[in-house]
Amino acid sequence: MKQYDILIVGGGMVGASLVRALDGQGLRIAVVEAVQFETRTEPGYDDRAIALASGTQRIFSGMQLWDRFEHEATAIHQIHVSDRGHFGFTRMDRAEEGLPALGYVVPARVIGRVLGDALRASEAVDFYCPARLSNLGVEADGVTAEILQEDAVLSLTARLVVAADGTGSVVRERLGIPVSESDYGQTAVITNITPQLPHHHVAYERFTDTGPLAFLPMSEQRCAVVWTVESAAAETVMALSDSEFLARLQERFGYRLGRLERVGKRQAYPLRLIKATEAVRHRLALVGNAAHTLHPIAGQGFNLGVRDIAVLAEVLVDAVRAGQDPGELNVLRRYGDWRRADHRQVTAFTDGLARMFTLPLPALGAARGVGMLALDLVPPAKRLLTRLTMGRAGRVPRLARGLPL
Ligand SMILES: Cc1cc2nc3c(=O)[nH]c(=O)nc-3n(C[C@H](O)[C@H](O)[C@H](O)COP(=O)(O)OP(=O)(O)OC[C@H]3O[C@@H](n4cnc5c(N)ncnc54)[C@H](O)[C@@H]3O)c2cc1C
Repeated sequence: MKQYDILIVGGGMVGASLVRALDGQGLRIAVVEAVQFETRTEPGYDDRAIALASGTQRIFSGMQLWDRFEHEATAIHQIHVSDRGHFGFTRMDRAEEGLPALGYVVPARVIGRVLGDALRASEAVDFYCPARLSNLGVEADGVTAEILQEDAVLSLTARLVVAADGTGSVVRERLGIPVSESDYGQTAVITNITPQLPHHHVAYERFTDTGPLAFLPMSEQRCAVVWTVESAAAETVMALSDSEFLARLQERFGYRLGRLERVGKRQAYPLRLIKATEAVRHRLALVGNAAHTLHPIAGQGFNLGVRDIAVLAEVLVDAVRAGQDPGELNVLRRYGDWRRADHRQVTAFTDGLARMFTLPLPALGAARGVGMLALDLVPPAKRLLTRLTMGRAGRVPRLARGLPL
């Protein structure tokens, strides 16, 4: 039976980021990941792109990883939010914030590769992959786990288990953590396009009567598109020919970027909101999508998960330095309490946006226009939006201030 301080179930983008944050802190860590990193990579043009808030960029800098992303990241200089067919738009600008960029767009494939390399290079980490958690028990003084790797069952113990195993978290389910869940009845269709005109590092969020549409600036003058449609219409949108798809998209987005000329492969993601009702228990912490799965309308899910791991790593390292057991509930509560406001605000913000801008009621159309205008005219509302989307609300962990743990 191998013994560890921390067992992390799920080596996805959030779990692997936690490993990196904790690396070199004298902790014995086991990571169990079901899917090999290599099999998740996709060919260049069709990658899903992730918008990283500037706060997330600082956390990756704090973990000495940003220089490995930098050359494949596209800076966002402005965010332009508009409502199709209605008056009013709002704009956020890096100059107003005094920042080099409001955020960065990085292909998920690149994030996976950098984190995968860092994970494999870490000597303090045993990386079980591909392997699945098959059993988990929590006792007063630790957790016991069984993992299935090829045909062998391996047993291990740890002082703390971290659930980083995504939306359908097995850890959450096995330990009976309830979730509140709602289906948006919407599907995100994602792809990359090349428009006629340069994007000039502007990210566009456009609300339309059939669902919100985001264009994120990417390398080679491409834009990553996230187009939310009613789930009933998703199959039709997925089945369109490339030229029909571009024509439909053009009609929704308009001509701010000229003609939309080339399109990559499409992928569809049905959308649900899932919130775990507890972020911690004795010997357990939830991070990333296992704790909160959001609508991608404002590109917040991974950013929120990265803030989770920056805080959790700080709390755990401080506890160990102070001679405390990192799996004790009173230690883990510091993480849960610290993260509560950010979870609540970002969830409410994205959920509110998703519902407000997808309700088909005609009366809401005018309210939305006014809402957008008001947002632009009322600086505190706009500031809150900026602070939330940039991950600067609340108490900031050391990694997000560029300081070592
Ligand atoms: C269309 C779309 C666009 C998005 N765009 C953005 C964006 O621009 N910005 C942003 O911040 N966020 C965005 N998100 C959200 C972001 O993708 C997620 O929040 C993020 O990927 C969550 O990472 P995670 O590691 O928590 O979960 P996951 O990526 O789901 O990783 C969970 C891992 O656990 C493993 N696992 C599961 N069960 C087991 C088991 N039993 N044993 C072992 N391993 C297991 C899985 O194989 C997986 O690798 C977007 C989401 C969607 C759908």
